[in-house]
Amino acid sequence: MISFLPLGGADEIGANCFYLNIFGTGILLDCGIHPRKTGFDSLPYFDLINDLPLDFVLITHAHQDHIGSLPFLVQRFPHVIIYSTTQTKEIAEATLHNAANILAQSTDIDTDFKIYSHDEIDLLVRSISGVNYNEVISLKGMRHTSSSGINVSFHDAGHILGSAGILLEHNNQKIFFSGDINFSDQSIMIGCDLKGIHNIDVLILESTYGSTDSKKLGTWLTESERLVKTANKVIHDGGSILIPVFALGKTQELLSLLYLQMVKRKLTETNIFTGGVGREISNIYDRNRYISRRSSSDLLLKEIPQQNIFDIEDLTYFKKNPSIVLASSGMILEGTTSFKLLDFWLQQKNFAVFGVGYMDESSPGYRLMNSQKGSKIKLTDFSEPKKVNCSVERFYFPSHSIREDLINIVQSINPRKVILVHGDINSKDWLGHKILELYPHIKVTSAEIGKSILF
Ligand SMILES: [Zn+2]
Ligand SMILES: [Zn+2]
Repeated sequence: MISFLPLGGADEIGANCFYLNIFGTGILLDCGIHPRKTGFDSLPYFDLINDLPLDFVLITHAHQDHIGSLPFLVQRFPHVIIYSTTQTKEIAEATLHNAANILAQSTDIDTDFKIYSHDEIDLLVRSISGVNYNEVISLKGMRHTSSSGINVSFHDAGHILGSAGILLEHNNQKIFFSGDINFSDQSIMIGCDLKGIHNIDVLILESTYGSTDSKKLGTWLTESERLVKTANKVIHDGGSILIPVFALGKTQELLSLLYLQMVKRKLTETNIFTGGVGREISNIYDRNRYISRRSSSDLLLKEIPQQNIFDIEDLTYFKKNPSIVLASSGMILEGTTSFKLLDFWLQQKNFAVFGVGYMDESSPGYRLMNSQKGSKIKLTDFSEPKKVNCSVERFYFPSHSIREDLINIVQSINPRKVILVHGDINSKDWLGHKILELYPHIKVTSAEIGKSILF
């Protein structure tokens, strides 16, 4: 018997974590942390599996909403065996240490919330078994009741370096977990590789852009042209541009995009600023350039002229020297570098903030992107209203599939059943209805935390 139980991330982009029990073997698919919550609220509901066997954790990629709770899980279940792609393991080392630093500085978490140390991260990362794409591993848990094992393989999801969809096969049953999946090419990463993923019994599918009209999203090509045009105007006007980005994925993609546009002489040559863990991750992109599917193996991110944002003490520098600053976090979450810089940016009439990626509806980034120049905004529920003097421009450089591509994935995989995860209710609604309309033979279910589904 196979059962599926969501512990988090069922109807939002939060602490993604899904429990599978395949004939007595307990497997967690991802172990994320909620990006906007703190303390116990930010973790998946691990209590739901207290009395269930847990043998393995399979991680799709190193974004915090998919891996961030792993240190907490290991504190509770120290015996679990963890698998990810080799690239995800390498990135996890950088991002989990960075997350430990951020946690150690947070002041608003419960006193009985036990955070973890850098030594624990070192041990944890060493214990992750790195696998190559398409390599098949066979798993059997302590209480496995079937004579055949579970064959597991990771397939390139085209979302960020190391990202994977995971195929699990037991006898004739096949389950495919998409993770975060991207069908089309970005500046560095190229779209997902789903060769060999057909006639699946159960597809667990992300739904991020299900409710977003794809016309609004544009393509990397058209959005690049629009960004270059808008950026040139700001730079010629003597202003600087803040681009809030995730340290993992968007930093590298946007850095590459800006540089290539400067080389082509389309974008005015300007100082580019990066910093923090984003730079470390860029080095991991560089080290893996010959062993990952990407548009060009020659481009070395570390050779792109860039300055360190943390070297600038006096922000008036940006008034005298038009610059483009790539700073995390992508949603301008409180306390992050992009949030701190924004305060100065908001005061400058000739400056601009460019939104480029996904922004959660309650995030400061989303609030900013939906404000008008000259208006006042509250970046958080508790902050003072601030006047928006700078320009605000919204671009979309998706690293998740647009909704038509999610439907294409369903069509090419041809599952008997689809379970929708990693998206808000509206996104899952649109996708669910569309799948039923186009492929009435497919059963569609929306995942709910704590609600078990039997296959
Ligand atoms: Zn992701
Ligand atoms: Zn995600």
